[in-house]
Amino acid sequence: MSGPFSSHDVIVVGGGHAGCEAAAAAARVGARTLLVTHRRDTIGEMSCNPAIGGLGKGHLVREIDALDGVMGRAIDGAGIQFRVLNSSKGPAVQGPRAQADRALYRTAMQGILAAQEKLEIREGVVEDILAGEGGDGPTVSGVELAGGEAVRAAAVVLTTGTFLGGLIHIGERRIPAGRAGEPPARGLSRTLDRFGLALGRLKTGTPPRLDGDTIDRSALDILEGDDPPEPFSALTDRIRVPQVACHITHTDERVHDLIRANLHRSPIYSGQIGASGPRYCPSIEDKVVRFGDRDRHRVVLEPEGLNDSTVYPNGISTSLPEEVQLEMLARMPGLERARMIRPGYAIEYDFVDPRALRPTLEVAAVRGLYLAGQINGTTGYEEAAAQGLVAGVNAARAVAGADPFTLDRADAYIGVMIDDLITRGAPEPYRMFTSRAEYRLLLRADNADQRLTPAGIGAGCVSSERAAAFGQKMDELAAARESLAGLSASPQVLAAHGIAAARDGVARSALKLAGQPGVTADALASIWPAVAGIPAPILRQIANDSRYAGYLDRQQADIDAFRRDEALVLPADLDFREIGGLSGEAREKLEAARPATVGAAGRIPGMTPAALTALLRHVRLGGPGAGRNRDAA
Ligand code: FAD
Repeated sequence: MSGPFSSHDVIVVGGGHAGCEAAAAAARVGARTLLVTHRRDTIGEMSCNPAIGGLGKGHLVREIDALDGVMGRAIDGAGIQFRVLNSSKGPAVQGPRAQADRALYRTAMQGILAAQEKLEIREGVVEDILAGEGGDGPTVSGVELAGGEAVRAAAVVLTTGTFLGGLIHIGERRIPAGRAGEPPARGLSRTLDRFGLALGRLKTGTPPRLDGDTIDRSALDILEGDDPPEPFSALTDRIRVPQVACHITHTDERVHDLIRANLHRSPIYSGQIGASGPRYCPSIEDKVVRFGDRDRHRVVLEPEGLNDSTVYPNGISTSLPEEVQLEMLARMPGLERARMIRPGYAIEYDFVDPRALRPTLEVAAVRGLYLAGQINGTTGYEEAAAQGLVAGVNAARAVAGADPFTLDRADAYIGVMIDDLITRGAPEPYRMFTSRAEYRLLLRADNADQRLTPAGIGAGCVSSERAAAFGQKMDELAAARESLAGLSASPQVLAAHGIAAARDGVARSALKLAGQPGVTADALASIWPAVAGIPAPILRQIANDSRYAGYLDRQQADIDAFRRDEALVLPADLDFREIGGLSGEAREKLEAARPATVGAAGRIPGMTPAALTALLRHVRLGGPGAGRNRDAA
């Protein structure tokens, strides 16, 4: 896309997962982009678990890739164990996951960003966001670095992760930090406060790190990856990184007794930390308290790299004092003599109530300021990266005067996440699950490119290389579908080849059979040899699409109803006091979330049918401000 860009059009603050994706996306769209981050060598750092993907999260990575984002390509160049989780279930709920070599991941990410045209990277600490007062409130004009230098840009994407007011807790010790060994960001919390944004406090935690050379694996179970490993990115033909196995150990009653005896020393239980933590990724203290009936918890010992003996014990995130952590490890099979390289810790940080954001991730009250990642109350690399991409694309498009690029709940998991955040806020750290999506038969990891790459091409964030590869795949799919639709066989013939079908005399097409569970490519090829000529990934895609086709026809009616409500736009400056029939409580909820549409208003927790009817009446009757385009407002 070409546009009226000046020297720096977009500044991205932070080189974590959101920042990398935002900077690369803004540059792909054509904005001259500056990425400012504390340290160049920590770009792409994984603060916690060295893994990408998983249930729900794997969908996000495929969607990022479909929009030509960088995360999928980086993990394909760094993954040391790939596994499709839930592989025994249907494709809609399977979650691709890969464990990363931490150093290779950083190298891959830094390499991709270095090769990105229009992207400049600079080390620095952003202390303040510069903004002028326009008629509509503050408008961003750049950032101020530590030392006082001002750098100008028309849009700023803030992706500072856990660094805002970051405070680490290890037992009774407290250390101001953004993550282990790195200072927190203080100035920016004051800036956000000045803009009138509501800040909250959340917490997360990480387990101790172990020296793998001191672990006794002889009696532990082994966890292998998939063979062959399945890449994340549509642009990766195969994984070239050597693959490794993990080992499994567990906690037991002796470990749980120790934890119970020391609970008063855990900052979460002593009251030292008041903030909410991730319910779905609890600390070992939380697990022992909440699941008191369980006599053991599984712990996966994940190598952090091919040439790094550090091991990440997945499942025992903790903020207990160091000496208790050491004793806990000594009681676990295989870890009796393990050396602890670094203790686990909990970290508390500031986040912004994401209900202050538009679907583009722009702060509604500050033109040109976008927020993405953990700063919005999410947890996880994938959630951060997905937001970064949307914020980066929109920042670049806004500077060029182009229309916003938004995704809704029927487009993508990215749309589900952003809608959840901006309508419901983040009362606890938000992570993605397949259960959050209403239309999950449609929103599959395997069809992310078909759902999103055309929209990405339209938004200007997809390279010509990916557009060409996608076009070729679509041509191959169309040709294969046509040839499969032209092949059919009677139930008798099918039965002779081991394929079950009711003896109703009706011929079945190869296209339909491809989606039938249990029908393999080999079985089809034994009836129709031409099937063997269809590339395996194309046949797999057709099988998945065909398997869900019937359900999707039915789901379409729900999607149409959802989109009808989404089309009822509420103006950005709508004064909810002017709407008759709204209770005080409903008005407060609407003012906090400022929903973009009647549909979004309906998803605000606690919104009553009466309040929605009042809103609808207002929009239909064209009350003050109703019917104007929100993004123009
Ligand atoms: P980050 O990856 O934190 O990146 C922030 C970037 O901003 C850094 O590069 C930093 O240097 C830069 N920066 C910050 N302030 C400034 C400034 N003022 N000027 C310039 N640069 C700045 N997620 C899970 O899903 N499960 C977990 O169990 C889990 N545990 C975690 C444990 C810990 C201890 C931590 C720290 C995080 C954990 N996370 C976990 C969260 C995960 O690390 C984050 O969700 C993810 O990294 C967020 O990405 P981000 O891009 O928003 O921020």
